[in-house]
Amino acid sequence: MRWTLPSDQVPTAWFNVAPHLPAPLDPPLHPGTRQPLGPDDLAPLFPMALIAQEMSTEPWIDVPGPVLDLLRLWRPTPLVRAHRLEQALGTPARIYYKDESVSPAGSHKPNTAVAQAHYNKEEGVPRLTTETGAGQWGSALAFATALLGMECKVYMVRASFGQKPYRRVMMETWGATVEASPVDEPDHPGSLGSAISDAVRDAAGRADSHYSLGSVLNHVLLHQTVIGLEAKEQLALAGEERPDVVIGSCGGGSNLGGLALPFVPDADVELLAVEPASCPTLTEGRFDYDFGDTAGLTPLLSMYTLGHDFVPPSIHAGGLRYHGDSPIISNLVRHGRMRAVAYPQGTVFDAAVQFARTQGSIPAPETSHAIRAAIDEALRAKEEGTERVILFSYSGHGLLDLQAYDDYLSGRLDAS
Ligand SMILES: *Cc1c(COP(=O)(O)O)cnc(C)c1O
Repeated sequence: MRWTLPSDQVPTAWFNVAPHLPAPLDPPLHPGTRQPLGPDDLAPLFPMALIAQEMSTEPWIDVPGPVLDLLRLWRPTPLVRAHRLEQALGTPARIYYKDESVSPAGSHKPNTAVAQAHYNKEEGVPRLTTETGAGQWGSALAFATALLGMECKVYMVRASFGQKPYRRVMMETWGATVEASPVDEPDHPGSLGSAISDAVRDAAGRADSHYSLGSVLNHVLLHQTVIGLEAKEQLALAGEERPDVVIGSCGGGSNLGGLALPFVPDADVELLAVEPASCPTLTEGRFDYDFGDTAGLTPLLSMYTLGHDFVPPSIHAGGLRYHGDSPIISNLVRHGRMRAVAYPQGTVFDAAVQFARTQGSIPAPETSHAIRAAIDEALRAKEEGTERVILFSYSGHGLLDLQAYDDYLSGRLDAS
């Protein structure tokens, strides 16, 4: 029911989906001139190695040795068959999940945090700034910078800063400095978009600092492909030829992309993005160039967007509250290679609790979106009497999200 790989089988090259996309990606545009960006435009914020990866069309990119050593602290992660959930559903489907919750920060996010910190350190940059919503990305980067002896400054969405103290304490334990955002509007609850503006402004204004983004960008999804590459090996060990459908929750697209991108070339594998109904970027947004942040400081990206001034309602899946989406995921959805669905949070928590009561593990609210969709796929297979193979991304645990479970269990959760 559980397939593990030895630590020498962490993938040694990342899978670059660029040459396999249904259409070429539109270039990012300069926020002032609206002309395509060159590498020099990004140099104040990112190291050259990451800028090269952002634009690369090489099919494989080697993982540097020091990054492999860091990934081996928790990778390869297990592939688990959710057999007890299958039994509870009475489905002929076989449900597998890739368990990214075993990382030190509790989610998939350290996969890119260690790579980004490494390339910055190599270029002589000792300090990174970033934003965080509920705190998962901030804690991943704080963890990575701690291991590499770097400084880390995290701008945390103010609403979460007040309501989710334990992730802040994790970041501080790893040595990061955390500040509530927006820094200049102490009464504003904040949003990911405004925290990005704060972090970009900080990095752009200091020679010793770069900025680091936890999702959305091509190089982030690239680093996350270790998830799907390992899952392919593990599914083969489980005796499966291929999954029929690969499912992931989608905030900026990194855990979904990490699991799904290595399956893009196989046309027999369906890909499914799951988002909250209250922040329906892929299912109801428009496909257009838009800024990544509220203040309009970042490059314009070609993506599905709800508008950079959209302030999503404060749902429990903080990691899925983003107005835009990864250009790669947007490209796949726009050209029909990936489907997207949206669920209200009440039905998402129904699924989370069903999962916890059958499989045991308590999932993050973000992850529970993927679980909801996996359960619905398994129920459809039951109706149709088909043996579907379902693979989903278990992107993180929910042990620091227990307030959300308390709200759900006591009937205080807004079901929409
Ligand atoms: C951040 C996060 C997400 C959403 O971000 P993506 O970049 O879309 O993956 C999903 N699940 C967990 C556990 C997260 O921490």
